[in-house]
Formats: sequence, C-alpha cells, structure tokens
Amino acid sequence: MSIIIEEMDRRGHEQVVFCNDQDTGLKAIIAIHNTTIGPALGGCRMWNYESEADALTDVLRLARGMSYKASIAGLNLGGGKAVIIGNAKTDKTEILFRSFGRFVEGLSGRYITAEDVGTSVKDMEWVRMETKYVTGISRALGGSGDPSPVTALGVFAGIKATVKKQLGRDSLVGLKVGVQGVGHVGYYVCKYLAEEGVKLIVTDIDSDALKRVVDEFSAEVIGLDDIYDADVDIYTPCALGATLNDNTIPRLKCSLVAGGANNQLKDEDVHGQMLKDRGILYAPDFAINAGGLINVANEIEGYNRERAFRQAEGIYDMLMTIYSEAEAAGVTTHEAALKVAELRMKEVGKLKNVYLPKKNVMGKRDNI
Ligand code: NAD
Repeated sequence: MSIIIEEMDRRGHEQVVFCNDQDTGLKAIIAIHNTTIGPALGGCRMWNYESEADALTDVLRLARGMSYKASIAGLNLGGGKAVIIGNAKTDKTEILFRSFGRFVEGLSGRYITAEDVGTSVKDMEWVRMETKYVTGISRALGGSGDPSPVTALGVFAGIKATVKKQLGRDSLVGLKVGVQGVGHVGYYVCKYLAEEGVKLIVTDIDSDALKRVVDEFSAEVIGLDDIYDADVDIYTPCALGATLNDNTIPRLKCSLVAGGANNQLKDEDVHGQMLKDRGILYAPDFAINAGGLINVANEIEGYNRERAFRQAEGIYDMLMTIYSEAEAAGVTTHEAALKVAELRMKEVGKLKNVYLPKKNVMGKRDNI
C-alpha cells in the first residue's frame, strides 16, 4: 500500500479508488490526479491488462496526462481516468457498466467519466443510468457525440500555427503532408487539409479507410513504414503512440510534426530533444489534440457544437504561446507545454482564496 501512495506522491495524484463488485464482476480503478482547476474528467478504458500493476500504472499515467491537457486547453477541469480490467469484446454487460456508474456516482462529481479505448457511447449510456457524472453521450440524448471532427479541427488549427512558426507562412497551399492513420481523426484532418490545397500522402492498415481518402481527396498511398522516409513538409501522426523514437526521428525529412495521436514521443525526456536537435518543430500532442476534450467539456455546460468548434480553433494561439515560451527558455516545445499547463494549475489554485458559493460540477450553482 505504501508503494502506491509513494507512487501517487511522486506524480502528485490526489486519489485512487479500487472498485470490486463480486456480483457484477466489475474490477476497476479510478485515478484522480489533480482537481485544482475543476473536477477530474477523463475516459474509462476497458482493457485486458496482464496484471493489476499494469492497470494501475496505466491509469495513473493517463490521469496525469488529462490534468495537463485540460489545463493547457484553458478548461475548468482537472485530470482523471478510469480503467475497467476485462476483455472489451467478451466481458461487457449492462450491469458491469451500471456498477461502474455507481462507483463514479459515489465520488459525487470529483470524477467525470467518458468513453475511451474499449468503451463506447452505448456503454456510457448504461453508466448514465446510475450517475450524471458522465460525458460523451450520443447526440440523440443531448450529448456531444463523436468528438473526432472537433479534434481534427484543433489539429488543423495546430498545423497552421506550426507552419506559421516554422515556415513563416499562413497558407498551406502546395505543402505535402504525410498522414499516418486515416480513421476518425485522420479522415477529418485530411478533409480540412485537402480543402486548403495540400498534397496528401497517407498510410493505414485499413484498406477501406485508405480508399475513402484516395477517392475523396486524391490522396497518394504509401507503405506503413515508408511514411517515416516520405518526402513531405509535415508529418501528421493520427494512429498510434510512440511513433517518434530512435528509429524514426533520424529518418524524417519534414521540418514539422503536428498530428492528433496521443503519446507520440516514445520517451518524452529523450525524443522531444532529439526532434529539437534536428530542427524539427514538434506540436506537443496533448496540446494539439485537446479538441476532443474541449468537445466533451462543452457537454457539461450544455452542448453547443459551434462553441466547441470555435474553442478548438483556439489551439492555434495556444501553440503559438508554447512556441514562444520554448524559444525564450531554450527548451523543447514539449517541456514548454508542460510548464504552461503547470503554471495555469498553480495560478488558478490561487483563486480559491476568494469565497464563492459552490458550483455544481455539472453546470449549476448550488448556493450551498
Ligand atoms: P481510429 O481507430 O478511428 O483511427 C486510427 C486509424 O489508425 C485507423 O484507421 C487504423 O486502421 C489506423 N492504424 C492502426 N495502426 C496503424 C499503423 N501501424 N499504421 C498506420 N495506421 C494505423 O482512432 P481515432 O479516434 O481517429 O484516434 C487516432 C489517434 O488520435 C489515437 O492516438 C487517439 O488516442 C488520438 N485522439 C483521438 C481523439 C478523438 O477525438 N477521436 C482525441 C484525442 C486524441
């Protein structure tokens, strides 16, 4: 036990809840990293972890990442995450997710859940039967639905900011962009880029997904591993994590990396610097892909898609700030982004000295 609290202390986690319900088979962990700015929001992942230790490591890492993403996006949210230990293909039941919902409800709004890898909008609708502290509900039920178009718009705004900083131009016309993964986010990123007159070079393991962007945007297809050697101006990862590593960075011909995938740097202490040394401007992943979080955060206040899109466009200015900070401090853009996020958490924390009647985390003032 002391090892767990020691580990929480090392990274600043506030609370970890272990959930065990023998009747429904639920085994889950909810991690709350930091609630200085607001309630901890983060998705619920369902995964067949090899061990409980792996599940704990994952949930602690993901919860912390959410604090930084929310802070940098200017949202009044903290960071949290949940994992359900189990097979997402075979172990899902209504009572499993309703049981999870009861544990979330028990936290009285300190943690708000959402869908994530291995969980779906339908699962969250079961969760909602037991708690109001859930986002990512379908549009039909008044929720925000699929976040990927908003994520993609944020990525597109981020690409424009990165191009402005690195190449000194506003227009993307004629640039060549290598997009890795043309699924939910990648497809919409391709759409925005094509409308702007970009030449698209794409790769994916899914031939149907590839065919769609070839047919609709005249994209050129390249092999899965060839994307790293492609003669492009911009590399836009929109599939897996850890694609920026010892093997790939030396091969890149682009001068900027800006894409929607999570955890792009294999080792954040090493590979951000490696990109900087090569003169490649890197858009920190948790900043450029914050549109998805902006979208669900909007749901808490009463969903307004137009407002979500407008907020996602703000990623342009946010990245410009990060690039200026990085330049001024002589650090990597990843380090600068972490500092900007940490500073906001610290500064907003100071506001708590001024008393205000309590605000219900799902939007309304309680006047308690
Ligand atoms: P998705 O599953 O819809 O798309 C991923 C695509 O990548 C798929 O088409 C898949 O076939 C392809 N792919 C898988 N392995 C590949 C490989 N080795 N090489 C090339 N392509 C490969 O997922 P998504 O929702 O589009 O998310 C993409 C990335 O963006 C993920 O890292 C996700 O965590 C991140 N992200 C998504 C959102 C969102 O709103 N959906 C928000 C923030 C971050």
